Amino acid sequence: MAASGSDIKFIDVVKALESIEATTQRTVMAKLLSSLLKRTPPNVIDKVIYFILGQLRPDWEGVELGVAEKLTFRAIANATGVPVKQVEDLYKRLGDVGETARRVMGSKPQQAGGKSILEFFGGGATEELTMGKVYDTLMSIARASGEGAQDTKVKLLTYLFSRAKPEEAKYIARFVIGRLRLGVADMTILDALSDAYKVPRDALERAYHIYPDLGYIAKMVAQEGQNALAKIHVTPGVPIQPMLAERLNTPTEILAKLGGVAMVEYKYDGERAQVHKTRDGEVRIFSRRLENITHAYPDVVEYVKEAIDAKEFIVEGEIIAIDPDTGEFRPFQELMHRKRKHDIKEAMKEYPVNIFLFDVMYVDGQDLTNLPLIDRKRKLLEILKPSEYVHLATWRIINDAEELDKFFHEAISDGCEGVMCKSIKADSIYEMGARGWLWIKYKRDYRSELTDTLDLVVVGAFWGRGKRAGTYGALLIAAYDPKTDQFYTVSKVGSGFTDEDLVKLKQMLDPYRIPHRHPRVVSKMEPDVWFVPAVVLEIIGAEITLSPLHTCCMGAVRPDVGLAIRFPRFTGRYRTDKSPEQATTVDEILEMYKEQKKVKIEEGANP
Ligand code: ATP
Repeated sequence: MAASGSDIKFIDVVKALESIEATTQRTVMAKLLSSLLKRTPPNVIDKVIYFILGQLRPDWEGVELGVAEKLTFRAIANATGVPVKQVEDLYKRLGDVGETARRVMGSKPQQAGGKSILEFFGGGATEELTMGKVYDTLMSIARASGEGAQDTKVKLLTYLFSRAKPEEAKYIARFVIGRLRLGVADMTILDALSDAYKVPRDALERAYHIYPDLGYIAKMVAQEGQNALAKIHVTPGVPIQPMLAERLNTPTEILAKLGGVAMVEYKYDGERAQVHKTRDGEVRIFSRRLENITHAYPDVVEYVKEAIDAKEFIVEGEIIAIDPDTGEFRPFQELMHRKRKHDIKEAMKEYPVNIFLFDVMYVDGQDLTNLPLIDRKRKLLEILKPSEYVHLATWRIINDAEELDKFFHEAISDGCEGVMCKSIKADSIYEMGARGWLWIKYKRDYRSELTDTLDLVVVGAFWGRGKRAGTYGALLIAAYDPKTDQFYTVSKVGSGFTDEDLVKLKQMLDPYRIPHRHPRVVSKMEPDVWFVPAVVLEIIGAEITLSPLHTCCMGAVRPDVGLAIRFPRFTGRYRTDKSPEQATTVDEILEMYKEQKKVKIEEGANP
């Protein structure tokens, strides 16, 4: 039965929601949804879909109602004349705002408060709510902003409750505080759309990957059928579903799966970012889950505007917290500070970030998602002018398992969590929303935990930048080997120093400055300044990892690879009581490496 008219009674939607809520089977849920969609006129189908999903617009648009529980109770009280306290007490007893609203509405005849509100809006008490009316009112609630916004929100909500039947009030109340709890997944909606409009499921899913707005897609197919889907294109400003990776545990398996050769990239441990620039010059950043996170990274917006030479684009990369003085990566948790909406200026200063780009999906009118990876990379190289803040992800074409393993350890010692191995075959398209074998991640299974501190010798330093200019921003530190009477580098440390420490360290170290590497120092790194090994500092780190960049225990665990401290930090203790020969020895570090507590890295969790 095709739907007619221009709206659907809200009570009809509510009845369908009640049956959906009662079912335990996903297929039944999809059938119930499909039948509701068939009864819904096309021009309000998007509103029904959004309501069922518990949102007013797709998540990535970031439209929020801004209605808290308290405000909802006030509106229920206003609409019924039942005192707020009574509403709140009932809620405390029931624990469900929907059931509370239903009972309060059911038990009390609507009183003066409600009536005056109806007069205020000029609506009749007998006029039934429609989906359109409910949705539009909720949208007005979301849009109310500035001074008096709270009052406007309460008034509008009171209006809705005044006109709602008890069952309707139940779902409105749950919706506004974000606890609809229907558990209808996006995929179930696609099933229902396919059933209701006889459109192939994969065509719908493809459209959803390109344009993840179920309300929009539903309306298109309801109005024009399957043909409408051909009009859905990759559009700057609208996030696409990110391509995902499979996982394997050995370089040999990975290369075999990818046909013997792969583009291997550092796998950065930060926040995935899909960066869009629209035709009108606006930059938007979307997260892995397609939330709009632009507000957290106003600096990245400026950086990419500078670094990417294209009018319109969609590129992808990883945002990483960075130590501006050493250029080293900081733990991924530091990005959390960027999520506080209020002090973003402060957070920007305190937690600087860089972005490492690894893909491009759209440039100036051209959808690149169907091009092979090599061509996309070429395009990225073409439009990107790397800067201090915007980089190309480190990559290499590799066809040898040993080389892959070496690159993997290089990535880890550079602060990454492993590598991404990507197919470069002719079919290596950007597979939106799919977890396939075109990308294979190779990560560590275990991370270790370093609980002890180490006493290490300063053998070199790097000049500081920004507010650390004129001091040593990072120090090259080493462990002692009594067998050779030499010092072997184990880390570059730039964290844990206060401003006073930086001044003091310069004074302490300058008397030992020499124009070349000291003969007792074994190093692969070239610092800006070398020292005679003399000053000993206490250092703590997250763990000891394999590293091809440092000489400590070189070859002891693996050929050509040494040991390094990951996320090293000065504890504040100057070990002036220790001579350099009394520093932690390379053998002790090897022992610590072997003894470290191994912690399993959970899939999906960042180490
Ligand atoms: P998934 O995203 O695959 O569901 P997940 O959230 O657990 O799983 P990981 O298993 O750590 O994430 O791996 C995928 C993530 O790695 C990507 O989502 C992206 O954020 C990140 N990443 C870092 N560097 C790269 C790179 N060079 N290419 C692709 N992704 C990268």
